Amino acid sequence: MDIIEVDVAIIGGGPAGCTCALYTSRADLKTVILDKNPSVGALAITHQIANYPGVSNELSGEALLDLMRDQAIEYGTDYHRAQVFGVDVSGDLKTVYTPEGTFKCKALVLASGAMGRPASFKGEAELLGKGVSYCATCDGAFYRDKEVAVIGVNKEAIEEAQVLTKFASKVHWITSNDPKDDDLLAKDLIAQPNVQHWSKTRLMLIEGNEAGVSGVQIKSRTKETQEHLPVDGVFVYMSGSKPITDFLGGQIALKEDGGVVVDDFMSTTSEGVWAIGDIRNTPFKQAVVAASDGCIAAMAIDRYINSRKAIRVDWVHS
Ligand SMILES: Cc1cc2nc3c(=O)[nH]c(=O)nc-3n(C[C@H](O)[C@H](O)[C@H](O)COP(=O)(O)OP(=O)(O)OC[C@H]3O[C@@H](n4cnc5c(N)ncnc54)[C@H](O)[C@@H]3O)c2cc1C
Repeated sequence: MDIIEVDVAIIGGGPAGCTCALYTSRADLKTVILDKNPSVGALAITHQIANYPGVSNELSGEALLDLMRDQAIEYGTDYHRAQVFGVDVSGDLKTVYTPEGTFKCKALVLASGAMGRPASFKGEAELLGKGVSYCATCDGAFYRDKEVAVIGVNKEAIEEAQVLTKFASKVHWITSNDPKDDDLLAKDLIAQPNVQHWSKTRLMLIEGNEAGVSGVQIKSRTKETQEHLPVDGVFVYMSGSKPITDFLGGQIALKEDGGVVVDDFMSTTSEGVWAIGDIRNTPFKQAVVAASDGCIAAMAIDRYINSRKAIRVDWVHS
């Protein structure tokens, strides 16, 4: 798989990531944003944003985010839709792993927000990585001709379920609330021949053992008893309010509340790695605060990279 080399890799394309990218691109640093889904971050789901300075109070969060992303791209940022599943922050060059490719960078910025949640379904934590997954793009191909369950009704769940229809023999889509009547993406999904929608149904238990997931127990609001579905994979897409740091693999210090530890320059405890926006679990989670973090980190990164120009990196061969 390709290795893509950049100066700055930013994980997350919310207001924090886009602002940072705007500044680093304008400073002539080769910048990439890796964003798993532009529709699922905190700003993207904000119906109306009435308190971002200088913009109309009728603007939706998604529209504001589109403006921020377009502005960064206009100044040279490369925007990749890709879910980061791992990083290696040892050494001068940091490595970022995604299903779409591996990225090497001099400066790594963590901006994945705080829309994560702790594993809460029975069996979820124990079977994570053994059939429980949060990334169909990463793991979907393992379920060729097998049955899988997708849990959740948000846009990410629908898009990821669509990915799974290409591989799985059957996709059981389990939603405790029904999608809205005008949700065309949901309609398209339900129309797929290998999708079964379990409406108004809750996931009760994920079953399995060391060998992996063997099934799920579900409970419909309209039925008295639970039902068993024989699935090999369970893909969970529910939002919460926990900093998304699972891809860090314990390499960066976190606070007790789960936020990333940073100094005044948004620098983490690992040299060459910054953290901005809600991933810090800031006391005041606001778009303008996230954007401000992005600006601070970008200026610190520019200074850091310039001070290290003398260091020879492995992709300069002249
Ligand atoms: C319902 C709601 C209403 C709000 N209303 C307001 C408001 O009116 N005014 C206001 O100022 N603030 C509001 N906020 C808060 C504001 O939206 C957040 O503080 C801000 O969006 C945080 O920005 P961020 O860039 O840190 O994270 P986010 O906006 O959450 O963006 C994070 C991005 O990272 C991506 N990502 C996550 N994991 C990965 C991964 N593994 N790989 C790649 N990409 C990944 C996500 O897809 C997302 O695009 C609201 C928040 C919510 C939830």
